[in-house]
Amino acid sequence: MLYKCIWEGCNRVWGEPEPGEEGFSHGLCPIHSRVAFTEIFRRLQQKEGNPDCYLRCYGNCPRHWCTFYPLCAIDEPGPEHVAELEMRLTARNLSVQKGF
Ligand SMILES: [Zn+2]
Repeated sequence: MLYKCIWEGCNRVWGEPEPGEEGFSHGLCPIHSRVAFTEIFRRLQQKEGNPDCYLRCYGNCPRHWCTFYPLCAIDEPGPEHVAELEMRLTARNLSVQKGF
């Protein structure tokens, strides 16, 4: 499935084309997911009893174990970083409205 980012002015395309499928599905690319989910991720950080420091450390975060570290610490994340974060969310029984 090919995806196209819905962020204004982005138009980034990612994913794998599949035979018999035409056009794009829509979602947020990893770079814009990282920004768009800021409020939600910070709320989840608080829910976990952590400081709501998501995107406040600019890559210098010492909390590597944090659920949101895979996206927070990287300026231009790729699908593999989103996948890592989803894995951590699942492992901790947290859920985010799917937008990835
Ligand atoms: Zn985008």
